[in-house]
Order: sequence, then C-alpha cells, then structure tokens
Amino acid sequence: MRTHLCGTLRAEDVGTEVRLCGWVAHRREHGEHLAFLDLRDHSGLVQCVVDGSVDVRSEYIVAVRGTVRHRPMGTVNDQLATGEIEVGDCTVEVLSAAEPPPFPVDDRTEADEAVRLKYRFVDLRRAAMQTNLRLRARVNGAIRAAMERQGFCELETPLLWSPTPEGAREFAVPSRLHHGDFYVLPQSPQLAKQLLMVAGFDRYYQIAHCMRDEDLRADRQFEFVQLDMEASFVGADDIMAFVSDAVLDAAEAALGERPPAIERMTWADAMERYGTDKPDLRFGMELSNLSELFAVTELRAFAASVVKAIVLEDGASLGRGRLDALVERAKALGAKGLAWFKVTDDASAPGGIGLDSPLAKNLSVDEHVALIKTTGAKAGDLILVVADEHHLPSLVLGQLRVELAGRPVGEGPYRYVWVTEFPLFERIDDAGNPVPAHHPFTMPHPDDLDRLESDPLAVRSLAYDLVLNGWELGSGSVRIHRRDIQERIFAALGLSEEESSARFGFLLDAFRYGAPPHAGFAFGIDRLAAIFAGEENIRQVIAFPKTQSGADLMTGAPKPLAPGALAELGIKVTPSKE
Ligand code: ASP
Repeated sequence: MRTHLCGTLRAEDVGTEVRLCGWVAHRREHGEHLAFLDLRDHSGLVQCVVDGSVDVRSEYIVAVRGTVRHRPMGTVNDQLATGEIEVGDCTVEVLSAAEPPPFPVDDRTEADEAVRLKYRFVDLRRAAMQTNLRLRARVNGAIRAAMERQGFCELETPLLWSPTPEGAREFAVPSRLHHGDFYVLPQSPQLAKQLLMVAGFDRYYQIAHCMRDEDLRADRQFEFVQLDMEASFVGADDIMAFVSDAVLDAAEAALGERPPAIERMTWADAMERYGTDKPDLRFGMELSNLSELFAVTELRAFAASVVKAIVLEDGASLGRGRLDALVERAKALGAKGLAWFKVTDDASAPGGIGLDSPLAKNLSVDEHVALIKTTGAKAGDLILVVADEHHLPSLVLGQLRVELAGRPVGEGPYRYVWVTEFPLFERIDDAGNPVPAHHPFTMPHPDDLDRLESDPLAVRSLAYDLVLNGWELGSGSVRIHRRDIQERIFAALGLSEEESSARFGFLLDAFRYGAPPHAGFAFGIDRLAAIFAGEENIRQVIAFPKTQSGADLMTGAPKPLAPGALAELGIKVTPSKE
C-alpha cells in the first residue's frame, strides 16, 4: 500500500513519486485552495501539500500520493528530520475516519495517566511511547542474540503450573475439569528450569512472563517479564559472565555505547558502605563506621553497638525545618533518632574545625576530632549519625543517602554492580524458622554449611544480584543439586517432609534420577528498559500495564465472571468484607 515511510524522506528523494500511509497529525488550510497535512507513521512526520481542500481531521488514517519536492525558501524546518522537503501535488484517500482522540497525540501535552491507560492504543501512537517500546524491543533482541551466541537454547515453560517458591503471594486459576483444584501462575520458571537441567538441556533461556500477587510500585507490576536462564556444569562466575554479556549487549543496543565490565562487591561490603544490598554507585556519600570510636562514650545517644554516619556535602546550610524533617524521616525508617552536626570553620575548636549541634558540647575532644576525621567531613558539610543495633543504622542511613541524593534512576552515568555472597536467610520468622533470602534451592556457601542448623543467619549463600543505579535488576544463585542438602534446607526452614514433598516433591523426585551441578539467574526486562529509556516507572515501557491497584483501565479487568461460568468452575463468590 505504500512505497516509503513518512519519516524517512530526505532531499535525495526530491522528484520521486511516493505513496505514503499514516495518521493525520495536523491539518492546516490556507484558504480554499491549499491544505497542509502532517502525515505520521511510526518512522516520523512529513508535510504533505494538497492543492484544494481535504475533508480529513486529526488522527484520520489516509493514503497520500504525491511527489517529493524541496520546501520553498524560508520554510525549511530543521526541528524535523524531513524538514527540508515536502510531498507536493497530493491526492488523499481516507482509509479510516477517526473520532477526535481523547487527548492530542503529542509528546508536549501530558494527559492524565488514567486517561492514557484507558485509551492506551492512542497513547502508544505518541513518539515517546513508540521510542520506549521500540527500545525495549532492541533490548530483547540483543539479549536473545547474546544468549544464542553463548549456546543457550530457548525453551518455553508452562503458565498453568504448580506453586513456585519466590516468596510472593500467587495467582490461582481454577480448573474446570478437576473440580476444586487450582493451577498456580508461576512466580518464575524456577522449578521448570531446574528440571530442564535434570533433563540435560545444559543451557536454557527464555524471555519469561512471571506473575506475583504483590503490591504494585513504580518498579513492580503483577505481571513482569524477565530474562530467565539456567546452565549446567558452571559456577557463579560463569553465570555472571553470561549475564554481563547479555546486559552489556542490551545496553549497547539501547544506548549506542557498551559500558565497561561490571564490577563486583560482596553483600557485606555493600551493607557496610552503602547500607543496602542495591547500592547506587553513581555518587559517593559512603557510610562511615563510628562504632569503635563510640564504643566507650559519655554520650547516651551513641551508646549502642553500631554507630554509623553519612556526610551531606554543603549540608551545613540546612535550616531547622529541613533538619527536623530529616530526623522525622529517620524515625519513620525505624531509627530511635538522628543526630546531626554542622561542620564549621572555627579556629578555637579542636583541630580548627567546629561542630554545631545540640550534642556537640557532650563530645570529648578526642571524639570531636575523630568524628570529623573518620567521616572526612569539611567545613560547610553536615554529618548525620544513627546509633542502634545490628543493621539498623546502615539501613536508615543507606535510605537517607539515596533520598538526599535524589537521583532519578534513569539518569546516567549507568553504574552496574554484581552483589555477591548474599546471606542464605534474611531473618527468623515469628514461628522461629529462617526465611530464605533468595529461594530455598540456593546453595549455601560451602564454608558455612556446618552452621546451617546452629547459626542459620550467619550462613552465606552462593547467590548474587545484579544492580543498576540502585535498582535490583535481578538475582540468581548456584543451586542445590544434591537431595541430602536440599532436605537439610527444607528441614531448617521448618518444612516437614510431607510439606516439602507436597510442594516440591516433583523436584526432589527428579533429583533421585541424577541432577547436574547447575546455576542460574533472572533479570527484569521491564526495569532494564525503563532505566535505559530514562523512565522512573516501568509502566512507561509496557504496552498494556495495570494501574497501582492492579486494574486494566482499557479492558476493565479484573471483572466479575458470568454466573454460569462460575458454576462451571464450582466457584461461589462471597461478599467482600468491605
Ligand atoms: N527464580 C529467580 C527469580 O525469579 C531467579 C533465579 O534464581 O534464577 O528471582
């Protein structure tokens, strides 16, 4: 139906007779005898000139036949890729009339997001959304190519499946044929891919849909897409190399430049220096550890096992209101308090540097000098200190660090980091059982295996995360391939033999027939594409996303089923508690 794409025409095409198809972006009439149409397709816009009037409106879909010519002197538009030329002597055929769109298809007008989601098919016509989704497609393409090149085999796994152990609430699908039974939508293909290793596939990958019934956030939807992979006869280093290759290729495809090799940091180091397992390395503000300095102190506020600090450069100018707000924020994050010290030039103070704070007079001279030295603060800066037990000071300051820096996630430079040696368990639950930090198929660190029962929280794992600009892109681990270790883990988790065999028996059974050592990883493509597109919310790189409350405003899902359909499934809906 067409000979060219609108956005591709250039001065070289002058004289060519073209047939174009697209949407009418704008129409301007000059009297009765001249009309200008800006015609848009996914490649861009071109100006078409009709001698006469045309009966079309914005967003009509038309076919235009005409001849490319130079624009008259003085009317060249260098904002537009096609701005040197226009298509003249046009005839216009309407292919599809259109009602006026609910909002202009224009990147300059920001329509309300609810309206954009309801009319997503119109919203996606905007150049910004076309750019985002096409960038995402390039990311997918690069990842596929990298995985294929590295000898991975693309295999699909079922969506109607059995519970998977990623720790989130699951979506259930009632079975019509097996009355009263349910499938579960996979939180990830974790068990399926491990079974594929048992099955001898050696290297598997899939761009997989995963479903988790968790609260939605800027970086989380019920349904998300990840590059899922698993390989046999490899260790953590191999997996990190495979994934690095795919991610760096994707970055190159999306942004035109290949980032340098990805650095590594242990979990313990990340917590110590950045107060988080997702360190944003685009800026400094590292945490300093003052625990030893204040191990014996007169200062009641700092009498705790862990005392840590961050320095806000030039923060001494913060007024009382801002400081009070910071203290409140720290408390909301779980701290008992937040001490602040404004660093000043003061010849009379110890070391010639003064500290301005309600607590300053309670510091000994040694503490005063060491506080400034250890934190590296200089005049004009603000020191923030939290004292408490365990990881709390790090977690609170780690969060304040990110909030004070206020860097949008999509802003360069892009800083990737592998965080390794995660703890095997993240905490002990109310029933006294440890909770896996990753999932229960993660191999404990061989050096820590003997502490599995006696001191579970001290056991490290062979799990690793990939982090970009403070966002967790994905996680993976070396898996347990031995039935005896897997059974010990289930026992440590407080799962009885019956429970573990009811949930994961098929995996344990498969291991009886021999499982190769294997390891894997998965990273979120929505998140990666959002960061590359410079977007804060993954909805901006998903064609048909859901709202914060999980609604699809375009289709109206979720919605009630017809009573007949419910009866067929054997389901009775009780009135909601609200
Ligand atoms: N199944 C894990 C996840 O979806 C990733 C992995 O361990 O491979 O987070």
